[in-house]
Amino acid sequence: MPEKYLITSALPYANGPLHFGHIAGAYLPGDCFARFQRLKGSDVLFICGSDEYGVAITMSSDLAGRTPKQQVDIFHEINKNFFKQLNFSFDNYSRTTWSGHIPTVQDFFLDLKDNGYIEEKTENHLFSVKENKFLADRYVIGTCPKCGFDKARGDECPKCAASYEATDLKNPKSKLTGSDLILKPSNHWYLRFDKFKEKLSDWIDKKNWKKNVINLAKEYIKDLKPRAITRDSDWGVPLPLKGCEGKVLYVWFDAPIGYISSTKEWAEKRGTPNAWKDYWLDPTTKLIHFIGKDNIPFHTVFFPAMIMGQNVPYILPYDVPANEFFLLEGRQFSKSDGWYIDLEDFFKRYSTDQIRYYLGSNAPETADSEFTWKDFQARCNAELLGKLGNFINRTLVFTKNNLEGKIPEIKSYDGDDKNFLSQMKEAIQKADDAYSNFQVRKASQILMELAQAANVYFDIKKPWVLVKDPSRKEELHTVLGCCLECIKHLVLIAYPIIPSTAEEIWHLLGYNSKLEQLNWDKIKDTPVPFNQKINEPKILFRKIEDEEIAEQIAKLKKGLAPKDKKNDKVDSLKEQISFDDIEKLDLRVGQILSAEKIEKSKKLLKLKVDIGLEERQIVAGIGEFVQAESLVGKKVIVVANLKPAKLMGTESQGMILVAGDKEIEIPYIKELPPGSIVS
Ligand SMILES: [Zn+2]
Repeated sequence: MPEKYLITSALPYANGPLHFGHIAGAYLPGDCFARFQRLKGSDVLFICGSDEYGVAITMSSDLAGRTPKQQVDIFHEINKNFFKQLNFSFDNYSRTTWSGHIPTVQDFFLDLKDNGYIEEKTENHLFSVKENKFLADRYVIGTCPKCGFDKARGDECPKCAASYEATDLKNPKSKLTGSDLILKPSNHWYLRFDKFKEKLSDWIDKKNWKKNVINLAKEYIKDLKPRAITRDSDWGVPLPLKGCEGKVLYVWFDAPIGYISSTKEWAEKRGTPNAWKDYWLDPTTKLIHFIGKDNIPFHTVFFPAMIMGQNVPYILPYDVPANEFFLLEGRQFSKSDGWYIDLEDFFKRYSTDQIRYYLGSNAPETADSEFTWKDFQARCNAELLGKLGNFINRTLVFTKNNLEGKIPEIKSYDGDDKNFLSQMKEAIQKADDAYSNFQVRKASQILMELAQAANVYFDIKKPWVLVKDPSRKEELHTVLGCCLECIKHLVLIAYPIIPSTAEEIWHLLGYNSKLEQLNWDKIKDTPVPFNQKINEPKILFRKIEDEEIAEQIAKLKKGLAPKDKKNDKVDSLKEQISFDDIEKLDLRVGQILSAEKIEKSKKLLKLKVDIGLEERQIVAGIGEFVQAESLVGKKVIVVANLKPAKLMGTESQGMILVAGDKEIEIPYIKELPPGSIVS
């Protein structure tokens, strides 16, 4: 019976686009493992999908002026296409807003409740009278109970890093509207994680996982307490109890169940709705969760406990290979800070396998690692092109030119040949072990070491000398035979990381079959067939030039640095004013809701601006410089207490701040909500 693997990669949050930082940790290692196991003949199901509920999504959709559904639709599509671009082999990519997810999650809750693991409590929560709703932590700002900082967040203080309950904040206010909040009792449901302590400890003790994963899990198990699993919101999986309208389950509760519902969706799509049980309910299935280190507690403690409380015998994870973080030139990837890689541009210039190889060979398996443009260039040029591509190309070109493009027969071996063949055998075994132990980085090293050994063998044997001496024909055939056999080994080792290039090389070797439908061990044990005609050799990897890398680095630095355009002529300063004059100004963050040209005017735009407290109509003389529609959704600085005035017959209730006059630039606010005071 083949081994059965159920492989998952963390469900990405549909609240923003993924970047290479995510891919290197939780995703590419999962795809390599799935591809390797399929080739080994295992029964593999590789599952993922978008995580689409939660307050972070309602918050960002509010700010973007979209509904939560519109928000997740956008990022589900973007992320799904990104995985496609990276040639991921998910068997299903679902989303937690899929209709089958809700009943699956509700059943989880009901089983836990029936088995005595859920308790109901009434507690005070922050309530906005103005908005007529309870506000989640993220919607609340106030004064830090520890240090007195007056712009502290609902769950932690950005100044002193204290964490607390939102109800501990002094002067709590709504982040969106600035309105005051009151305490009001609300019923919530708690999961009694403390009751699972012993069971979890016994289970974890038997695991031979990565040390950092085990250690963190044990720490969490020690401190397990009841944890709230419901909140007041209309975006989430509804609590399946009567009279509980407006209560949903927390996103951390529903998200991991998404692995199960995604498998159910897979089963439905293929017309065998019960097939998900063959994986989730079969104790011989090995469930492997690929995640980033920030997700360890959820996959090793909370989700396993939830499973332990079910009546349905779901399997627990077999292993949780959590990886560290992957940075961009020493800092976290951040699109809003301008520290990112433009993916559209990237894929115009570079191939999917170049980035897959780079991320795999640099995977953050035991420590944080990073993308640097220079290292990307070095690995693509020196390794993919210089070692792997070079060996394959010189072997195939030589075979084509001197052996009529046919794989020669090996009749005898000398010591070097035997040594080379045993290097191949050893490399395959080591790669097998590395992939089996989730070590993609090591597998890519083994690949390059074998390619390097092959280049050395080629140089020592000098086939270009042998070919000139007819009496050494048998020797020549042995050398090329060994080299072509080595290409086959390289193809196998390369396939999980750079699948499309591996398929291409397989085809160049003269095979008509599809590599991914074959078997690792059979390919390994069957020599390349004598007399098989190879295909026309071609260049596999493009060289990356210094200039393009310099250009990329400059672009990155520019995104970060303030623009430095010097004016030839700088206006002289106005007369001094006192602080009192400044105090009179009421500057606010305002979000532009709509923008249109005022008829008969070249430069006047009529804007609708949300300044938190109310909506304003503002006329701005910037129509010559910006496209009206490009302003919608942007947050600007508004002079909010300027006396209303009429411009071309249209009332203007304020003014937005803009830099420059002949050429303008508008300062935008990125994070803070409308109504925030600018001082
Ligand atoms: Zn503080």
